[in-house]
Amino acid sequence: MQCSRCQGLLIAVQMKDMGQPVVAGWRCLLCGAMTDPGIEANRASHDLPIRNRARVPGSPVMRLGKGGMR
Ligand SMILES: [Zn+2]
Repeated sequence: MQCSRCQGLLIAVQMKDMGQPVVAGWRCLLCGAMTDPGIEANRASHDLPIRNRARVPGSPVMRLGKGGMR
């Protein structure tokens, strides 16, 4: 899968928003753009800019797993 902005390599990630279940998504290794099914759906109907939360080093995405957040 390729980034829609820079054609860079996308890697599979798991994203978690507050109060929402973990969703599978994609992150670009080059520009850091995040994509998930929800964003793709939004993009299809609107032309929303991509949120760039993922640019922060040590992204919370990496804390998922067996941490037991509940
Ligand atoms: Zn990119």
